[in-house]
Amino acid sequence: MSKIFFTVGPTQLYPEIQEFYREAFEKNIPSISHRSSAFSEVVKTTTEELKKLLNVPDNFYFFFLSSGTECMERTIENLVAYKSTHFVNGYFAKRFNDIAVQLHRKVQTFTVPFGMNFSFAEHIIDSDSEMVCLTLNETSTGVAINPEEIVNIKKKNPDKIIAVDAVTAFPYYRLDFNYVDVAFFSVQKGFGMPAGLGVLIVNKNCLSKANSVIKSNVCTGSFNNFLNLAEKAEKYQTSVTPNALAIYVLGRVATMLNNLDSDYISSTTEKKAKLIYDYFDSREDIHPFVDDINSRSKTTIVLRVSGDTNHIFKKLENNDLIISKGYAEFREQHLRIGNFPMHKIPDILNLLYLFKKI
Ligand SMILES: *Cc1c(COP(=O)(O)O)cnc(C)c1O
Repeated sequence: MSKIFFTVGPTQLYPEIQEFYREAFEKNIPSISHRSSAFSEVVKTTTEELKKLLNVPDNFYFFFLSSGTECMERTIENLVAYKSTHFVNGYFAKRFNDIAVQLHRKVQTFTVPFGMNFSFAEHIIDSDSEMVCLTLNETSTGVAINPEEIVNIKKKNPDKIIAVDAVTAFPYYRLDFNYVDVAFFSVQKGFGMPAGLGVLIVNKNCLSKANSVIKSNVCTGSFNNFLNLAEKAEKYQTSVTPNALAIYVLGRVATMLNNLDSDYISSTTEKKAKLIYDYFDSREDIHPFVDDINSRSKTTIVLRVSGDTNHIFKKLENNDLIISKGYAEFREQHLRIGNFPMHKIPDILNLLYLFKKI
């Protein structure tokens, strides 16, 4: 029996992934030039299918980079000359903040104890801050931000760039791109693919800002700056030789998801999340880490464990089910369960059945 990965990323692949890769090899995708019209067709298809899936308007670029973390770095480099504001509710939000510091930008940092969410209305964003960075779904703590809060932040701060880390949020969580300027994800989480591709979605209006940052004498990176990336994206090309296989397969995955009933992803994700939370709410020794029900992630469920966790992993692994350990300081005290569109209800029931015996 093959294993099922309920991990938070990398995670279980969609069953179709191998077939999509085989198809890509048959079409010589790894060998064709990234300057050919055949490759531009691939980038165009992937871009168009993602736009449809995530409801992204036409005034956005899609940049194909290497990882979610690279997307953070490029975003700071290109769109912040002086200061960015960070809402830090876990280790990935902290990484975004720390990258800004490493790039010698000033930061305004709001923090909450991990496991909690923000009362956004209480936080006043500095007038000299250029960008607000938010982590839609914090994979390290299992806290999700209500996308409505992001709309409110943009309405209150219309002159600031809003940048959203949507790495474990997409494709379940949706953003209103009328109120978001930058969003990014990598493919090894909710898109159920092998790692090696990050997708950065950038409002075309950000280009004038990128231009002024370049003129402002701070480090804006080099070859992969937004002006170069945008010039190539206009032609459905990439700045450097990209992970062409992954760009092709991502287009196939997005097409497949677009062919599902429009509420399939949301209804099944919510149904599975409810099964998991309901069960662990009834248990004291293995209990949801996030107390506030409205802040609980639907896609990465974090559980705190009283006592040792090793026997739990052993029991599950003996039955070919794999879940994630806690993140960083929580490594030995938490369990994390990925709940992405490829995870099936009968497998969740089997997972919970095994937990009942632990
Ligand atoms: C995994 C993850 C990242 C980092 O993505 P990489 O592709 O590994 O660089 C960033 N943010 C969140 C919320 C994540 O879960």
